[in-house]
Amino acid sequence: MKFSRFFIPTTKETPNDASLPSHQFLVRAGFVSQTGAGIYDFMPLGKIVLDKIRKIVKDEMDNAGACEVQFGFVTPLSLWEESGRDLTMGSEMLRFKDRKGTNFVLSPTNEESVVNMVKNRITSYKDLPLHLYQINTKFRDEARPRFGLMRGREFLMKDGYSFHSSEEDLVREFNLMEETYKKIYTKLGLDFRVVEADSGAIGGSGSKEFHVIASSGEDTIVVCDKCSYAANIEAAKRSAKKYDFSNGALEKVETPNCQTIEEVATFLNVEKEQTIKAVIKKAIFKEGSKIVVFFVRGSDELEETKAVNSIDALELIDATIDEIKDAGLCAGYCGLVNLAKDTLFVIDCELENANSMVCGANEENFHYKNFDLNSLENVVYKDLIAVKEGDSCSCCGGKLSYTKGIEAGHIFQLGDKYSKAMNANFLDEQGKTKPFIMGCYGIGVSRLVAAVIEQNHDEKGCIWTKETAPFMVDIIVSNSKKEEEAFLGEKLYKELKDANVETILDDRINARFGFKMGDFELIGFPYAIIVGKRASENIVELVDRKTLEKLEISANEVVSKILELIK
Ligand code: ATP
Ligand code: MG
Repeated sequence: MKFSRFFIPTTKETPNDASLPSHQFLVRAGFVSQTGAGIYDFMPLGKIVLDKIRKIVKDEMDNAGACEVQFGFVTPLSLWEESGRDLTMGSEMLRFKDRKGTNFVLSPTNEESVVNMVKNRITSYKDLPLHLYQINTKFRDEARPRFGLMRGREFLMKDGYSFHSSEEDLVREFNLMEETYKKIYTKLGLDFRVVEADSGAIGGSGSKEFHVIASSGEDTIVVCDKCSYAANIEAAKRSAKKYDFSNGALEKVETPNCQTIEEVATFLNVEKEQTIKAVIKKAIFKEGSKIVVFFVRGSDELEETKAVNSIDALELIDATIDEIKDAGLCAGYCGLVNLAKDTLFVIDCELENANSMVCGANEENFHYKNFDLNSLENVVYKDLIAVKEGDSCSCCGGKLSYTKGIEAGHIFQLGDKYSKAMNANFLDEQGKTKPFIMGCYGIGVSRLVAAVIEQNHDEKGCIWTKETAPFMVDIIVSNSKKEEEAFLGEKLYKELKDANVETILDDRINARFGFKMGDFELIGFPYAIIVGKRASENIVELVDRKTLEKLEISANEVVSKILELIK
């Protein structure tokens, strides 16, 4: 390919809202163009990279025995009514009517489509397992589309769905997908981690995420310094902390104007660990909303995803002062003694059997001392807390710390949630009708374009990995008006092409050398060959984009040198 014939509109202008390097550089280097909030067009360079990633994903999925299909981007809302998800998908799912008034949605994911495809076509255990996948556009009307390709509204996803006659076979496929995903991210040249993930309200034991490690990642990953334990903070566990406080009799004490844990602990001269914090939220359910109280140790923080899952809610939002009052609760003094009847509450499991605790008295300016949780009956304990840095690993006792990750993939053991709801069954070996056991497996293909750059860039621009680079080599003809330079550039271009090296020739007549070099650095091709002053002596310079080191080399040797480097 020649620059003079290609469309690479590089620019010095950074979009106003672009805080991430990948967002800035992909726009500035002419890979993508924004047309609306969270909506991007791929220009030629961007399309090459996207297709490269897509091909790596496709090859590995095919290797693993999955079959590629394509579902309609538009699906009838009736399918979502069958599964019940029309009520739970919220406003992320974009709905619209056609001219006849029939309701449709732009696919945010395709479990319903795949069940609809397989239902009544596969009827016997003999035809299982089956794994169907597609690489197709998704639309999610994200509340805050941001960070360029990282969190778009329209984006490209690989989504796969598997069907099995037993849980054991699902686990086999799940493990196969974990291995397949590892191969994909390794091939892409990425530093990544497989982490335990939140399984959401769907439950089920198995859900793993694949995170590209990057300081700009939106997700917090908890990792152990001793063993291989890694988990999204939404699902991370720690070894339970044990405390031993001397016990006394339950006692109500006045704590004037002590609303926060700090104030109460200081006033009563106890550690925060000896207090119970009440976090009051408004929970949104399918059927409506309700005020809910989560009790955690005063030194701990509530993990919101865990809290949502503990009560099977759709989401939690802040409760207003009036809503808290109307629920019979006393903000700042809410506790487990004399809690208003019919209050929905959950207690963190590390508080089970705790005694000698300080908690609110459900009365302005009063707390209780020496509260023993064993005095409670029929209460629910769930894991609610956010693991902190320095906590101990529950697997090995090692020290846990945080790192940031970009979620690039998610695999999930679904079980029979969708098949049951949509009445999609098969006959088992005994001739009994059973719903399919399913798994689902996603990869953010367009998000990966950005993730590669988040992990591989410097202050000048992108640095593509070898498997993702739009072209491996950029031949920069320093002054294209000089005949010997133009001639040698063309010659090397032909040689590299004959050697199957993806090469672009910067043959622009009117661009100065500095401009061409700037484009090379911004776009981030792995190598450049500069054909300049010493062209007449048959000498060129080889530049490594990663280190920006230059090597003078004979034009006769540069092709074999490049072949050696990219081997
Ligand atoms: P997130 O937590 O980042 O919102 P998710 O859990 O909603 O993602 P999944 O439903 O698991 O995402 O989708 C599978 C994959 O699709 C994700 O692992 C991610 O790589 C990608 N993805 C999800 N949402 C977006 C988006 N808005 N823009 C780009 N890629 C996305
Ligand atoms: Mg996910």
